[in-house]
Amino acid sequence: MSEDYYDILGVKKSASKAEIKKAYRELALKHHPDRNSDKESEEKFKKISEAYAVLSDDEKRKQYDTYGSAGFSQQFSQEDIFRGANFSDFEDLFRGFGFEDDLFSHFFGGGMGRKRRREYGADLQTSVEITLEEAAKGVKKDLHLRKKALCERCHGNRSEPGSSFKVCERCKGRGQTIETRRLGPMMFRTSAICPSCNGEGRKADKECKSCSGKGTAVKDEKITVQIPKGIHNGMNIRLENAGEAGPHGSGDLYVNIHVPEHDTFEREGNDLHTQAKISFVQAALGTKIEVPTIDGKADLEIPSGTQSNTQFRLKGEGMPDVRGGRKGDEIVHVIVEIPKKLSSRQKELLKEFEEEGKKKMFGIF
Ligand SMILES: [Zn+2]
Ligand SMILES: [Zn+2]
Repeated sequence: MSEDYYDILGVKKSASKAEIKKAYRELALKHHPDRNSDKESEEKFKKISEAYAVLSDDEKRKQYDTYGSAGFSQQFSQEDIFRGANFSDFEDLFRGFGFEDDLFSHFFGGGMGRKRRREYGADLQTSVEITLEEAAKGVKKDLHLRKKALCERCHGNRSEPGSSFKVCERCKGRGQTIETRRLGPMMFRTSAICPSCNGEGRKADKECKSCSGKGTAVKDEKITVQIPKGIHNGMNIRLENAGEAGPHGSGDLYVNIHVPEHDTFEREGNDLHTQAKISFVQAALGTKIEVPTIDGKADLEIPSGTQSNTQFRLKGEGMPDVRGGRKGDEIVHVIVEIPKKLSSRQKELLKEFEEEGKKKMFGIF
């Protein structure tokens, strides 16, 4: 059978809404579950209903036309396709087997829709604050969490230690219950984890006293997280299985890293920017100054004639790369300060300096 929705309904790509509706009505009558009880008709009926659900919806039709069958089915699940689909114009067709607006999500909700997940514990999220210095070196932090953990008495198997097991009566040991729904002559089967034995297929004669058979208990836990050097503000560290415990496995723990603003440094990628102030005399004559680095200090040579806002790069004095790449640099923005108050002697000297400059015509020294 072709997967193209237009072919399935036997209409042209340019078909109007009315034509699509007419085509669906005819095919739905032909493959109507009341007249056909074979598997093939049921499949055909599902297919034409799916095609109608998409082509009768302007937005979904547009997507389908744009992406084609393959692209469309990647983006939309069966559930998405039938969500919001309107079959109310065909109420007469379906009368007699409990028509509801969301009939089709019931149709396809079972085997074809999203699979019911086994019982994993929930993922958890927490955050931790570290300094830029800690981010530069890497750091271990202890997290204190209150979360569902496996019950210590039964280790999550819900039964009292030493109890004996019997096959679960409800699911006969299969661990799943099969529900059969009848819609006209059609039978729809959905399976679910057996609620009586939680999918284990067997039951203990005594449930765990400590957790009343839940298998988990809320506990305070200390978790140590190793934060790698170079980590950026806002990054998440995923600790597998450190989330809440569940009967079939634990969720994960996401640790969000917060690095507050630093007094001295501003991080940009792996580079660190900082400012250093020098006097106009130092700028003119050149000097050597000491600047802070993330792990200490470094000497910086200021050549004579340095202008304000000149940037100097200290290679490799920035942040380490979190993925082990090249280390960043420190970029020092030199600010030349002009004095606001001068003594009369200083004024005298500067005037003399100015006179000297006029005489020489070029530059100063
Ligand atoms: Zn227990
Ligand atoms: Zn069971």
